Amino acid sequence: VQQKIIVAEGPAPSAATAAFLAADHRLFIGGRWVEAAEGGQLDVENPATGEIVARVPAGTAADIDAAVAAARQAFDHGPWSRMTPSERGRLVWKLADLLETHADEFAEIDSIDNGKPVTDARAVDVAFSCELLRYMAGWSTKIHGQTIALSSSAPFHAYTLREPVGVVGQIVPWNFPLMMAVWKVAPALAAGCTIVLKPAEQTPLSALRLAQLVEEVGFPAGVFNVVTGLGETAGAALAAHPDVDKVAFTGSTEVGKLILGSARGNLKKVSLELGGKSPVIVFPDADLDVALAGAASAIFYNMGQCCTAGSRLYIHRKVYDRLMAGMAAEAARLPVGVGLDPATRIGPLVSAEQLARVFGYIEAGQREGATVLTGGRRIGDRGFFLEPTVLTGTTPGMSVVREEIFGPVVCAMPFDDDDIDAIVAEANSSIYGLAASLYTRDLSKAHTVARRLKAGTIGVNVHHVVDVALPFGGFKQSGWGREMGYAAIELYTETKSIAVAL
Ligand code: NAD
Repeated sequence: VQQKIIVAEGPAPSAATAAFLAADHRLFIGGRWVEAAEGGQLDVENPATGEIVARVPAGTAADIDAAVAAARQAFDHGPWSRMTPSERGRLVWKLADLLETHADEFAEIDSIDNGKPVTDARAVDVAFSCELLRYMAGWSTKIHGQTIALSSSAPFHAYTLREPVGVVGQIVPWNFPLMMAVWKVAPALAAGCTIVLKPAEQTPLSALRLAQLVEEVGFPAGVFNVVTGLGETAGAALAAHPDVDKVAFTGSTEVGKLILGSARGNLKKVSLELGGKSPVIVFPDADLDVALAGAASAIFYNMGQCCTAGSRLYIHRKVYDRLMAGMAAEAARLPVGVGLDPATRIGPLVSAEQLARVFGYIEAGQREGATVLTGGRRIGDRGFFLEPTVLTGTTPGMSVVREEIFGPVVCAMPFDDDDIDAIVAEANSSIYGLAASLYTRDLSKAHTVARRLKAGTIGVNVHHVVDVALPFGGFKQSGWGREMGYAAIELYTETKSIAVAL
């Protein structure tokens, strides 16, 4: 099937977005907009064209020092520390309202910066961010401890408090620029922490625009700081900073391990959302339309640049041919184009580096004996477009099956066994454990397999399951801790036990 391609130029961004891109970008530290201490700048590229669309400061350790000092001051002595939970919650809610007012602009900014379809950015990234801010705003007034009866024979009144953990460093990736930032910022603000946010160097723009909204809402100075810069400099300095109480990281497992090393100095609290190699299992009794839609969106949504991407597709042999024909047709049907075109379903990958990385995997797979059923080619020579790709003939030892590709490349593998043990073992044979999904109409099999899969989130007859209320995070090397729901509030608070001898 011929790939549907609409690439070309795409529409121009709105005047508001164009003005923001062209503006002089600075770091947001202590409520002020400042240049990077060492004066360096980073180019920001539009992956649909390869053109430079903006320049942002290249923050370094000195800027991280300044931002952490501002966050420390705001946490220890600022008006933020004296605000009531309800005042805090209202500010967070107001931020959601303002973000919603500017939803189209944020969707355009992330589309230009990351390449993603503007339609998805608007309907998912921005909408989810607003929803999460409101959800977490609600928690700010419902954070509570317990009264506890002690075993002691002497009389005590004992209770716990949950207090904000303090100054938090938040380091986020490029795949959902605004949303990954808000995943961390919303619960931290609701809990009463102060923040130094380090966006990914590939996609720093929406975090800077978010800081403008934070300023407009009227959060006290120093509560929210943004330092753009490289991971090895700004990110590493933040993770290692002795005055940071907690670091929250989303990104690769490899860098997650570096973060742990950096955090060791002051034993700051660490939460990690890392990589994945999530299995999708289609049993022969599945509703195949549902399974096809799920398996396709599991790997093609956001060009496969999702930590939960369903990149290992296990299909029972009885339905393998039908489902594979469907996957190939679906891959070719999705219009590939510039993210700003509302018809686009597949945009470019985020960078030339990412395109080369994904290509490297496709080639390695072929060298090791895999076959490209569909896709596998670059589209055009401008921007970083890649056809959605289905590999067959893949076996468990291949790098394409074991390692996270982070692109629109799925390894499809048939299974024969009607006994679930073998397929569960195969699905679990990964260093990762972020997500998994299974397709069946058998209720007992659904729950049994869901219990046995080793992953933080399991979808039954659905793949990408993310909700503001549902804990999200990884087993094994996919991470530490859970975001979303009250679990996120727990990540940003400490329990204090108080015992009063009566
Ligand atoms: P990455 O690990 O290279 O970078 C993530 C962030 O870490 C960026 O802000 C980067 O600047 C920073 N960083 C890089 N080196 C650093 C260092 N030495 N010290 C401190 N910070 C450093 O990841 P990426 O390539 O931007 O994102 C892709 C990865 O993120 C994938 O592996 C994906 O699975 C993962 N991811 C996971 C989740 C999740 O929730 N589990 C969500 C999105 C992405």
